[in-house]
Amino acid sequence: IGENILYATRNIDFISCAERAVSEKTQLKLDLQIGSKIIENLFTYAGEENGFSAALIITMSDVTESRNAVKIRREFFSNASHELKTPITSIKGSAELLCSDLPISDVQRNELLTRIGLESERMNMLINDIIMISRMESGELSGARENVDIAAIIYESVNELKPLAEQENLCIKLDISPAIVLADPKDIRGLISNLLVNAVKYNRQNGAVDVSLTPLNGQALLKVRNDGEPISPEHQRRVFERFYRVDSGRSKAVGGTGLGLAIVKHVVDTLGGTVSLESSAEKGTLFTVRLPLSN
Ligand code: ADP
Repeated sequence: IGENILYATRNIDFISCAERAVSEKTQLKLDLQIGSKIIENLFTYAGEENGFSAALIITMSDVTESRNAVKIRREFFSNASHELKTPITSIKGSAELLCSDLPISDVQRNELLTRIGLESERMNMLINDIIMISRMESGELSGARENVDIAAIIYESVNELKPLAEQENLCIKLDISPAIVLADPKDIRGLISNLLVNAVKYNRQNGAVDVSLTPLNGQALLKVRNDGEPISPEHQRRVFERFYRVDSGRSKAVGGTGLGLAIVKHVVDTLGGTVSLESSAEKGTLFTVRLPLSN
């Protein structure tokens, strides 16, 4: 206050914006990236004052978080629409062929109908995952938290997965003790089913899935391990990102949306827990989740 602006900063953009606000007697906004932060600067011309030729009010706000949130949301919409476009294109193409005057054999007709069924199922999965993620991001998670026994949900999930596991001749081994957490049962179901479905989907034929659950030092310690192709170190950090897939072709072929682990991470974060990942060719892939036990 009361000094020439050059005493405060040497940033050329900042100074020239200040000068323009004064010379044009107006209000201007300038975003500056300073280190890892985004600072929004608002220059408001405030007339002549106290013997100075011009007075200027400058407000500086750290808008890093809100700008990043906007960017993430924009990317999310763009990814989601892109992901939905593929099944829709396929359904549309198949339906058009079925309705056309082109001669179609019974075999072809069945193939087209099967494709429509599969692609609709894929869209359904995607939309359910997208709804779950948006619900979490809008902070609507845990509308109704209650005591949930993770063990019971693991049993339910394993039962649902049995047919898929049998197809691949997988052996699911359980070593489970009750562990009660305070959570929305839907979220625990989302967490468990995504980890277990992945352990089955990304396994190899005749492989094993090991699931253990123990209450330990005030935490529920959950481990889900599977055989199969490991996740290489450069991908390990990123698999929890939304829509991130190690091998997009394979993930799509086994029915993935790229949202499973993002849901897992979200649930764990909201409940104040942690999730970590180890993966190697010898030991397979191991996800370790820790959640605070209910008092
Ligand atoms: P997707 O719907 O593609 O399975 P996820 O977010 O659940 O998406 O997983 C992201 C990627 O991480 C997958 O595409 C897969 O390559 C890898 N991945 C996830 N879980 C496992 C696992 N248990 N074993 C090996 N790879 C896995």
